[in-house]
Amino acid sequence: MSELAAISVTALKGVGAALAEKLAKVGLETLQDLLFHLPLRYQDRTRIVPIGALRPGQDAVVEGIVAGADVVMGRRRSLLVRLQDGSGTLSLRFYHFSQAQKEGLKRGTQVRCYGEVRPGSSGLEIYHPEYRALSGSEPIAVEQTLTPIYPTTEGLTQQRLRQLSEQALARLGPHSLPDWLPSELARDYQLSPLDQAIRYLHRPPPDADLEELAEGRHWAQHRLAFEELLTHQLSLQRLRESVRAQQAPQLPIATRLPQQFLQGLGFQPTGAQQRVGAEIAYDLSQDEPMLRLIQGDVGAGKTVVAAFAALQALEAGYQVALMAPTEILAEQHFINFSKWLAPLGIEVAWLAGKLKGKARATALEQIAGGTPMVVGTHALFQDEVQFKRLALVIIDEQHRFGVQQRLALRQKGVGGRMCPHQLIMTATPIPRTLAMSAYADLDTSILDELPPGRTPVNTLVIADSRRLEVVERVRSACNEGRQAYWVCTLIEESEELTCQAAETTFEDLVAALGGLHVGLIHGRMKPAEKAAVMDRFKQGQLQLLVATTVIEVGVDVPNASLMIIENPERLGLAQLHQLRGRVGRGSAASHCLLLYHPPLSQLGRERLGIMRETCDGFVIAEKDLELRGPGEMLGTRQTGLLQFKVADLMRDADLLPAVRDAAQALLAHWPQHVSPLLERWLRHGQQYGQV
Ligand code: ADP
Ligand code: MG
Repeated sequence: MSELAAISVTALKGVGAALAEKLAKVGLETLQDLLFHLPLRYQDRTRIVPIGALRPGQDAVVEGIVAGADVVMGRRRSLLVRLQDGSGTLSLRFYHFSQAQKEGLKRGTQVRCYGEVRPGSSGLEIYHPEYRALSGSEPIAVEQTLTPIYPTTEGLTQQRLRQLSEQALARLGPHSLPDWLPSELARDYQLSPLDQAIRYLHRPPPDADLEELAEGRHWAQHRLAFEELLTHQLSLQRLRESVRAQQAPQLPIATRLPQQFLQGLGFQPTGAQQRVGAEIAYDLSQDEPMLRLIQGDVGAGKTVVAAFAALQALEAGYQVALMAPTEILAEQHFINFSKWLAPLGIEVAWLAGKLKGKARATALEQIAGGTPMVVGTHALFQDEVQFKRLALVIIDEQHRFGVQQRLALRQKGVGGRMCPHQLIMTATPIPRTLAMSAYADLDTSILDELPPGRTPVNTLVIADSRRLEVVERVRSACNEGRQAYWVCTLIEESEELTCQAAETTFEDLVAALGGLHVGLIHGRMKPAEKAAVMDRFKQGQLQLLVATTVIEVGVDVPNASLMIIENPERLGLAQLHQLRGRVGRGSAASHCLLLYHPPLSQLGRERLGIMRETCDGFVIAEKDLELRGPGEMLGTRQTGLLQFKVADLMRDADLLPAVRDAAQALLAHWPQHVSPLLERWLRHGQQYGQV
């Protein structure tokens, strides 16, 4: 028997060109595809339920004799058929019916039907059941298995999908669908054979645990989820290996520049910064490319760590690129690095998408000419940007770059032949489970210590009907010499509307807080204007800063100890956490007031509750993941990362350690199984290695 992966669906009975085309639309081209096209849920048509035992909400097969069929006039005309089986009476209700249908359901007819039972005006009813009249005396068998309901598309019926899967299942066996999980691994991780799991999921026996299946906890689902997660790991690890196989410039541990830098810094690195710094320094001294992720909560001091890494490359005479996802964040880095590096006599170049014409040409020339430090936005990814001696790429990621983009910068190494080292900073901690999967191609360092002198932020959730009180609170804080932020959130994805709202809020607050110095900053102001406003706030000339979420990142004013966030329900928890991280940077007790607009949804209440309860970014990230799901959290809707067929990262999190070990074992001992697995699960251009 040949492999089902090689047999086209057109080999099946009843599949012509037109149907094949429809199937292709949902990704079903081979018999293997059909077998991996798993039911969404199941119906139990394996037994006949006595009418007297029916419960509202139940989907059930019922058999009985028609005791009467009448057209009734209620709110809408309907055909009401009373069915009896000796244990009770059930009504079948049809709002659309033909005369022939009515004839066919005469008193005395034996009927078997299926549908959802609900309470109706005549007792329990089924609306528009599937049914058939049983004419002959021979008993008609009930279904032998649970009935699968498949994901489908227009013009493709469940019945058709069942016929097709039936035919594919008939050809299924250990040889026609090779099991790429070696039996040693299957035994170690207690996984059943692939063909058994597939067969089970397409046609579960009558005694299958529907609840387990619905929740994805069934052994057959575990078997497939394991293989899918394993494949995902393999693809990331293969990617990692392909990068590791490349040469990177070896950068000796630096001495001179870090010392000078430390002297000017004005503080000592925390223990965590030193530890992570040492991990990075070691990686950079190797001739294989570093691929390292620094995770650390807001304010943990990732930038300083990145600066030390940069100095190691700079001291060795190479170039460093630092990239951030937004212009304001990139700008902030540019300012910091310029300030830090100028005393060391090191030049910093700037490149962003908005840079045009002559300025842009100059920047490109500088970069190609070898300006040591380059800071910018994703504009640095573009083809026309040529580096002279790039040895280290630092990405301040914030979940906004995907795997694909990370790869693009790797191509820009020294002379195009060498691969640069890569350091990624994520400002929002990533739950461990996700980090393991989404970043399996990276090593991870965790900055788990905040610089000394930070105080936890006290967070309050307040309805915006109490706005006046809040304004008074701002006044008294400012009168006591503190500073405050008033943050306006995004309106309907429109930056323009949001900026207008911020302007209006600014005017209102200026009027309400006569005598206080109030500033305004938003995304539509020119960079120079923004910088000027920020500067006045930093100097303490402005007491209150009205801002859009542009201040989410990079802003550091320790004297600011109060933040108001309007309509916090519009933001993700990660973003709220980022924003809140702007206060609590000095020694004064800090407060964050989440000024929501009632009514709050249940989910909204829960989410703001989490913000009130904890300042721990890891906890917030875990909860956020729980409430929203991983796709949203990593912003992967756009990148296509982490879209699983069977697996669910939250639900199957406990599988991940085993999956990671199994991936290593497979790579070491059964490398020839890797490609077929990637082929099976990631066929449609999702292989990260192929960029
Ligand atoms: P994040 O991890 O959020 O990017 P930053 O690198 O922006 O954090 O650092 C936040 C602030 O803390 C900056 O003002 C930085 O200068 C300061 N900082 C960093 N490390 C230390 C330290 N070891 N001691 C004191 N302040 C520090
Ligand atoms: Mg930062």
